[in-house]
Amino acid sequence: MIDVTEAESLILARMPRWRSEAIGVAACADRVLHEDVRAERDQPPFDRVMMDGIALAHRDWADGRLDFESVGVQAAGEPPLTVTAAGQCVQVMTGAMLPRGTDTVVPVEQVAFDGPLARVADEAALRERQHIHPRGSDAPAGKRLLRAGERVGPAEIAVLAAAGRATIRVGALPRVAVVSTGNELVEVGAPIAEHQIRSCNDLAVAASLSRHRLAEVTRVRLKDDETELAEALQRLHDEHDALVLSGGVSMGKFDFVPDALERLQATAVFHRIRQRPGRPMWFGLSRRNKPIFALPGNPVSTLVCTARYVIPAFRHAAGLETADGEWARLGSAVDALPNLTYFLAVKLHHGAEGIEAEPRPTNSSGDFISLAGTDGFVELAPRRTAYPAGSVVRLYRW
Ligand code: AMP
Ligand code: MG
Repeated sequence: MIDVTEAESLILARMPRWRSEAIGVAACADRVLHEDVRAERDQPPFDRVMMDGIALAHRDWADGRLDFESVGVQAAGEPPLTVTAAGQCVQVMTGAMLPRGTDTVVPVEQVAFDGPLARVADEAALRERQHIHPRGSDAPAGKRLLRAGERVGPAEIAVLAAAGRATIRVGALPRVAVVSTGNELVEVGAPIAEHQIRSCNDLAVAASLSRHRLAEVTRVRLKDDETELAEALQRLHDEHDALVLSGGVSMGKFDFVPDALERLQATAVFHRIRQRPGRPMWFGLSRRNKPIFALPGNPVSTLVCTARYVIPAFRHAAGLETADGEWARLGSAVDALPNLTYFLAVKLHHGAEGIEAEPRPTNSSGDFISLAGTDGFVELAPRRTAYPAGSVVRLYRW
């Protein structure tokens, strides 16, 4: 039996890196960049007018001139006009290129128009180069704007588009089989007998992987039959990049999962972690080095092990930069376990002093009904004394 942190490092050290694929910029929200992205041009690419108004040469105004002759109108998207003589100006719109021969923009609110004449208000105090977004001031051409390992959000999509990237290399989503095992399990929608239960783990694990955009999931239910299990797992292994199983890893007479996996010549990296819930968790690698997570079947254990081990493992394999850990203050005192790490479900409150985690203990690892409305769990390392209210502890979200 090993500790939580040891289990985590054993898993991370054995996770593969998923391959890259090139996809269109419009489809890459939430994906992980597998390449750096550099500025195609200076950003902004030209001196950009930032207000609707007129553009003029500051020196003319500084010489005491207020009346300017408008020599044209310049909208965004047009090549620049040129001012050739003293006292001329151009009417400019936000987003236009700054006309040649001008260096200052006067907002329309400070200008009175009279035919081709534009009169700058007496009280206007013009600063040279005011209301101009200077070429290259946000990023010079060639500057790295995004790095491999970042997750693409709306802001990154905007940057990709500005950098002229129609396609981009991102981590391919692995195909993952999420397998529930148990003779008692019945799919939602199907008729159910008194001795049967609804299968929830596969749906919950699939939801977690999908919510984090870390995998393309196939859901499967299998019976507690060692031969059938071995055959099905072999086939699922061949068709997927990773397996996440739940159920059948304890000491019961029908807990065949570890044996079935070893029949496929998968190697166990560990079986059992000093933790509650989720102690019987198994992790190993197939003959072809594909990761296999076999989680205990109790839904609370399955969910906790998914958030604590499976999600970080898939983040790592996706090439995501390591996230900083999240921490929270306990909202009330909690008894620790002397020999096991205790994962305690919590509801979060966000206040001026940070995140407070209010314990929402479940009745048992079978009681997943109590998890509804919780945000995740805190990790309480083993110790003999209680954790007082206010203790700062590691937080994991679902
Ligand atoms: P096991 O780890 O197979 O011994 O399962 C432990 C407990 O979790 C049993 O009460 C199972 O019925 C329950 N369980 C296992 N798999 C699921 C599942 N997919 N959905 C809901 N409950 C499950
Ligand atoms: Mg079972």
